[in-house]
Amino acid sequence: MHEMSLAEGIRSIVESAARDGGFSRVTRVVLEIGALSAVEKDALRFCFDAVMRGTVAGGAVVEMIDLPGAGLCVQCGRNVPIAARYDACPACGSYRVQPTAGMEMRVRELEVE
Ligand SMILES: [Zn+2]
Repeated sequence: MHEMSLAEGIRSIVESAARDGGFSRVTRVVLEIGALSAVEKDALRFCFDAVMRGTVAGGAVVEMIDLPGAGLCVQCGRNVPIAARYDACPACGSYRVQPTAGMEMRVRELEVE
């Protein structure tokens, strides 16, 4: 389950932000999750709670914002929106679509006390 390592990555981001920013409690963590990132949101939420226990973000609310996916169709050369990796091009039906956006997962914002 790669959500556990994602959650651990979020923890190190949050902890270094807390060190640099001098805050002692994080109440909310806002994440951006690309449609093509293959992140299981329920699993990530579960791992987040487990990994943050006992840290500055223990008990913090996690909010997830979906980012749309997009790709460049090799067949027709168009930039097209896609909802999942390996989706067909909505313009020409080709499966040769190179993902160009929506693969990422990142921390957008922290709410602190
Ligand atoms: Zn196409």
